Amino acid sequence: MSRVYNFSAGPSMLPEEVLKTAADEMLEYGTTGQSVMEMSHRSKEYDAIIKQAEADLRDIMKIPDNYEVLFLQGGASTQFAMIPLNLMNKNHKADYIITGQWANKAYKEASRYGDARAVASSADKTFSYIPKTTASDFDEDADYVHICLNNTIYGTKYHELPDVGGIPLVADISSCILSEPIDVNKFAVLYGGAQKNVAPAGVTIVIIRKDLIGNAMDFTPTMLNYKTHSENASMFNTPPCYSIYIAGLVFKWIKKMGGLEEMKKYNEKKAKVLYDFLDSSKLFKGTVVPEDRSLMNVPFVTGNDELDTRFVAEAKANGFVNIKGHRSVGGMRASIYNAMPIEGVEKLVEFMKKFEEENA
Ligand SMILES: *Cc1c(COP(=O)(O)O)cnc(C)c1O
Repeated sequence: MSRVYNFSAGPSMLPEEVLKTAADEMLEYGTTGQSVMEMSHRSKEYDAIIKQAEADLRDIMKIPDNYEVLFLQGGASTQFAMIPLNLMNKNHKADYIITGQWANKAYKEASRYGDARAVASSADKTFSYIPKTTASDFDEDADYVHICLNNTIYGTKYHELPDVGGIPLVADISSCILSEPIDVNKFAVLYGGAQKNVAPAGVTIVIIRKDLIGNAMDFTPTMLNYKTHSENASMFNTPPCYSIYIAGLVFKWIKKMGGLEEMKKYNEKKAKVLYDFLDSSKLFKGTVVPEDRSLMNVPFVTGNDELDTRFVAEAKANGFVNIKGHRSVGGMRASIYNAMPIEGVEKLVEFMKKFEEENA
């Protein structure tokens, strides 16, 4: 067996240790005589799995008691609708910052349910930076402000949260969840699909302040109402059982790694290897302004489409897979989530150096 270094933006690498545990437990979980895949979600064994996963996530992220943790389905994309359906309920207004395709999709979906306003955008420079805003840019009547904390496609990240006055702040954290500590208290809602940094696709994590639950628009489908899921501890219907189980294993792995402070140090160290090389390379260059660079997604180009294509192909042949950039940016993108070991990044940089020498 030879495992590749997978730089996919998502679904992406999972810690090898987690995959081994899952493999060991595939045929029999504990002494239950069955796989978690086959288990009733109402069984006491599964109840322990989902409760432990929530407890570990609360512990790792220091989630205060006045926040609900929900394990939902439908991906982050379903949250683009759930957020306005549940939160755009006082003045039917919401402010969005457009930092990329996901943020824009969230904005467009909200526009279907109320008065969504694009307050700022970095579309003018292919989303290669985070637009600056001040509290006065936002409508004080807005029911919330929505941001995408880490922009998976473009490789930008909010290193400082925007000042939104007292307006509830909602953030899509799909591609940076658990990559570093985050002060949950600063947010009304945090949400993310699991397939970037947490688990296989299928579960979406929502962390929502409890007082915001229960005011959904009248026509909100039952399944899209946070109240439905909070009242039933994410068990209104069958939850994505296996993804939640793997998420639980990943939470335990993060604890073993030393928690989010340590994850942050490790991720910074990893990203630095790549960014330092990009800044010194004569062939490759990063596409994002240095102050807004993501720790998780690193887009880069050679400036020559033909060379880019050759690099992607040769990288693949050498065990560095899924490194092609998003079609809207071109070039390459290395997604270096929590589970990417530093050796993967070091070896990639070595390979890039060799490619650079050969193509000078
Ligand atoms: C991947 C991604 C999404 C879409 O997630 P789905 O789970 O596929 O709906 C949304 N937002 C961000 C920031 C993402 O990285």
